[in-house]
Amino acid sequence: MVNPPSSYVGRLAPSPTGRLHLGHARTFAVAHRRARAAGGRLLMRNDDLDAARCRPEFVAAMIEDLRWLGLEWAEPMVSQSARLDRYRAALERLHAAGVIFPCRHSRRELAEAAVSAPHEGAEGDEPFYPPVLRPPAGAPLPPLDEAGWGTNWRFRVPEGELVAFDDGYFGRQAAVAGSDLGDFLVWRKDGVPSYQLACAVDDAELGVTEVVRGADLIRSTFRQLLVIRALGRTAPGYYHCPLMLDEHGRRLAKRHDALALAELRACGVSPANLDLSV
Ligand code: GLU
Repeated sequence: MVNPPSSYVGRLAPSPTGRLHLGHARTFAVAHRRARAAGGRLLMRNDDLDAARCRPEFVAAMIEDLRWLGLEWAEPMVSQSARLDRYRAALERLHAAGVIFPCRHSRRELAEAAVSAPHEGAEGDEPFYPPVLRPPAGAPLPPLDEAGWGTNWRFRVPEGELVAFDDGYFGRQAAVAGSDLGDFLVWRKDGVPSYQLACAVDDAELGVTEVVRGADLIRSTFRQLLVIRALGRTAPGYYHCPLMLDEHGRRLAKRHDALALAELRACGVSPANLDLSV
């Protein structure tokens, strides 16, 4: 008997900003195992929008590392830099829906206003946007003309609303918009979408049914759920993997060169001997 094709679609979404390390390997191995177990497809997304940090040689390197781990995915790889028209269309939609606002404050102004706000962003997360800088709801939006595309745009979070999802690993997760979660960047004045917008658009449009990624992105999930809803799309499920910590209890980062997969490989480590369980 032939099983019906599975509707599961997962994705691997590395950023080509450095060598992948053991923490990435574990997250990507979990994504691979879950797609396999569901009999589904796994996409490969190249998160290459950050022109200042992404380098083509890291794209080749991450593919080499993932192949060495024995992971397989559906070709062709999707590069975010080739999907700018999709992100522009999404921003137009958010603009028409009136859920974004332009933000012309400098970083210094934001930092100064943030001092008086009691919130603090987690490590690596964007800082909480000071509510005093938010234009009043219903204020007319400038058009998305040439100047408009060269402006920072933020998503206006629905004040007081509980945003929640059931995580496949961590269980129920909830945040209150406006107190746990500030207005976040969706478009940068250099003409590039933020990670939040690009990721939400891709997961929704590419038909991803489950996002497997590190627990450092749980806060981003709340934001992406808001974007996906505002775009009128269906949200995927989420499975966040606990982060791998170093001997000092700090999360592994690209600075941990000793745990780069390329280093391990060069030392003769076999992928079969890596503990990639969660
Ligand atoms: N490219 C992102 C990163 O490496 C992950 C994005 C995601 O899985 O949503 O942090």
